[in-house]
Amino acid sequence: MKTLDQQFINNQWVASRGRRLLDVVNPYREEVIARVTAGAACDVDAAVDAARKAQPAWQALGGAARADYLDGFAEALTARREALITLSATNNGKPRVEAGIDLDDAIACYRYYAREARTLDERQGERVAVEMEGVEARIYHDPAGVVGLITPWNFPLVTSAWKLAPALAAGCTVILKPSEVVPLPEQALADIALEIELPAGVLNLLNGDGEGIGAPLASHPGVDKISFTGSNRVGEAVMQAASRRTAGVSLELGGKSPILVMEDADPLHAADWVMAGIYFNAGQICSATSRLLVHERVAEALYVELAKRMDALTLGDPLEEGTDLGPLTSAKQYAAVNGYLKVAEQEGLTVVRDQTHYALPTQGYFAAPTLYRDVPVESRLWREEIFGPVLCARSVASEEEAIELANDSDFGLAATVVSGDAERAKRIGRALKAGSIWYNTEQLVLPETAWGGFKRSGIGRELGPWGLSAYLEVKHVVGPR
Ligand code: NAD
Repeated sequence: MKTLDQQFINNQWVASRGRRLLDVVNPYREEVIARVTAGAACDVDAAVDAARKAQPAWQALGGAARADYLDGFAEALTARREALITLSATNNGKPRVEAGIDLDDAIACYRYYAREARTLDERQGERVAVEMEGVEARIYHDPAGVVGLITPWNFPLVTSAWKLAPALAAGCTVILKPSEVVPLPEQALADIALEIELPAGVLNLLNGDGEGIGAPLASHPGVDKISFTGSNRVGEAVMQAASRRTAGVSLELGGKSPILVMEDADPLHAADWVMAGIYFNAGQICSATSRLLVHERVAEALYVELAKRMDALTLGDPLEEGTDLGPLTSAKQYAAVNGYLKVAEQEGLTVVRDQTHYALPTQGYFAAPTLYRDVPVESRLWREEIFGPVLCARSVASEEEAIELANDSDFGLAATVVSGDAERAKRIGRALKAGSIWYNTEQLVLPETAWGGFKRSGIGRELGPWGLSAYLEVKHVVGPR
């Protein structure tokens, strides 16, 4: 069994000073497959030191040269594709086909930011039009400096790519802390850094948990910015820690996103997009459309279609061809989801499908695909992020009611609108308070478009040019012409 008791600092694997070892589990077999160090504050000190020393030369290299390294990451990930898919499916519990989609997303992200890094050079020193005569103003985009990147367990290699690729493109040097729950796939990034001869200290990878690495990283005076993806509870702690030294933060947090199905929608298509929005990755998606608002005229037909599709799902081994739904990723998440199912029982929610309709595999942290209908808006299941394959639905009488209920949430990460009239769907989308709106499609995530939330879903945007700006400081140089 592998023991990840080393940290990748300054292009070397060095022993972690952390004393605790944490179990890394295969959630399908419920077996410990590795152990990982919890890390220690002095690991963070060493990594920050290496990143600070490496930063000026990495910045001076220029965007085009940095772009070549980003293409190198894309190529090396492609070469490891099969092995990484297996590792991700084994550690996270997602079906292989989904792990493949993740990997393609990560590769596309490195490629996209390679292109962005090249255009960054062209943008340096651009003239800014000013009204005052005899004055010249030019704009430069300097890197934010040394950045700490903290990621969750639900999309290994993806959440790290969305941070690492733009940070490196911008000229930042990095300390990356993957989740201790799913740390295995990200280890490849260190091997790739060596393989592509990334300069030492540019990427430092620290294994550990929140206490060992996350908190010391967020509060480290040598870290200029923290980019965090994870829960609201931890995101708020990270923001507090950063505020003590006025360091920048980007936060990608939770969601309770709606899917709106209007009366002119085709229930067959609508059912496909509802299914993909909540049962992908066993519902452990920050943008899961976990609240279904369906027009009363199509509600019954849609429930019938959904039940049919839910009954056809194959739950099982993530490594086996044909598996649609794997287990939840951890015992902790399993307990959290089951907690909500108990609340649903106490609240007397109306069940369309739940665990009584499935023969769950006898091993693994499986939660059954679940659908409750006519869920009251006061229900905890309607308001809180469950992060499991649990869909809450209610019918609406009008477009106005659908919009009002969709926006009645603390979160605002994403939303889907389904309508037979594309123009109407887009118009409804404009009225929704969320960072990503899809209409008449599954959740398309494209590296050129932004990702991030309104309200408690976070601060800032990843992907697209906005994802690069998150790692840049604007500098104006002004003087006589
Ligand atoms: P989490 O907040 O428990 O952990 C996230 C990361 O923070 C982990 O690496 C963890 O070790 C670290 N951490 C824990 N305590 C810390 C501390 N005190 N200081 C700094 N770092 C600390 O989240 P999770 O359970 O891994 O992920 C699930 C959550 O992530 C869900 O709420 C989900 O919505 C959210 N998420 C959001 C997005 C998005 O793009 N908005 C994407 C994926 C997941």
